[in-house]
Amino acid sequence: MNNPFENALAQLERATSLVSFDPDFLRVIRHPNRQVRISIPVKMDDGRLEVFEGYRVQFNNARGPYKGGIRFHQDTDIEEVKALAFWMALKCAVVNIPMGGGKGGVTVDPKPFTDGEKERLARGWMRGMADVVGPQKDVPAPDVNTTPQIMEWMADEYGKITGDTSGAVITGKPIEAGGSQGRGTATAQGGFYVFETLREKLGLPEKCTVAIQGFGNAGQVAAQLWSQAGHKVIAVSDSRAAIVNPEGLDIEALVAHKASTRSVGGFDGAQTIDSMEVLYQICDLLIPAALENQIHEENVEKIQAKVVLELANGPTTPKADDNLFARGIPVVPDILANAGGVTVSTFEWEQNIKKENWSEEEVFDKLKTIMDREALAIADKAVQLNTDLRRAAFVIALERIQTAME
Ligand code: GLU
Repeated sequence: MNNPFENALAQLERATSLVSFDPDFLRVIRHPNRQVRISIPVKMDDGRLEVFEGYRVQFNNARGPYKGGIRFHQDTDIEEVKALAFWMALKCAVVNIPMGGGKGGVTVDPKPFTDGEKERLARGWMRGMADVVGPQKDVPAPDVNTTPQIMEWMADEYGKITGDTSGAVITGKPIEAGGSQGRGTATAQGGFYVFETLREKLGLPEKCTVAIQGFGNAGQVAAQLWSQAGHKVIAVSDSRAAIVNPEGLDIEALVAHKASTRSVGGFDGAQTIDSMEVLYQICDLLIPAALENQIHEENVEKIQAKVVLELANGPTTPKADDNLFARGIPVVPDILANAGGVTVSTFEWEQNIKKENWSEEEVFDKLKTIMDREALAIADKAVQLNTDLRRAAFVIALERIQTAME
């Protein structure tokens, strides 16, 4: 199996072979500043006590407080969280927000949990981490299987423990609990701005056919945004099923279907296909919006999209990157394509600290300015270095982090 942190280091080496960096910087940036592991006892509804393992990896804070989500997933472990924390440091530098990189997680499948069980797990994570996080130290957020409600429980727990009820310790909260307008859709929205800015350079037609892997925080909103803009979403999947309709899926009906059945499977007017087949569709744009290591050495030859835009973190391994690059299939990398989420998270943090409330229009204007500017800068850098977009994004991010560390 691909170790995500080894993949992240391989990406680092490939990018830093193109331009010269201070050797001491390169030595340091391979290592997280701090890795925290906790045990979280949770009373289940049936009276049993279960103990889960929780993590926070604080990778680099040269540019600002550590920033990054918390993932609840059965396959999450410290290596995965370390890779994700590293990518967060780069991502925040790519969009030039004043944040470092961190990530958290719990090894757990929360799908069968009741709300009460989720709440006790969320509060338990924050109780164990209250002394390592904080508005000026480390600011978590949602990630895979974590929601605004979970952020609210965590913020509340932090307030009870420390007395700081500003909410600035965690982002992605519900609007009523200090969340920002636009945060819920920001990851996909940021990816959409990048897509629009780079579409012609990527050789894509005005109206694209799109396949999306994942129908959660990022994938579902992406399906809505692309279809509302007149593109044709032909295939989607979630952790339970995948469906295809070459004529295009009715996304609003699909969102309703998913809300009532909890899966995209069995949706009327679409054919159910093998889960991984969603990646192999003939289409203009493939959007992996689920987990890492989905496109790898063994299946990359089956990719038939013209462009890959990564809303997930780490969906493409370095070997698969090489294959796609050789075949002329551009990959818009995660640290650019999905950086809209953390950007609006940072707006939320700023609003909490300043006790302000920005309108959705203001949030998206600011987001668009950042995404457009950085997407163009990365595309230019790739041309200048005669390399792919991922290496170009890494170079820009690493230069910014190096400058801050100096
Ligand atoms: N979990 C998201 C990511 O991977 C958002 C992180 C944040 O908002 O801090 O970028």
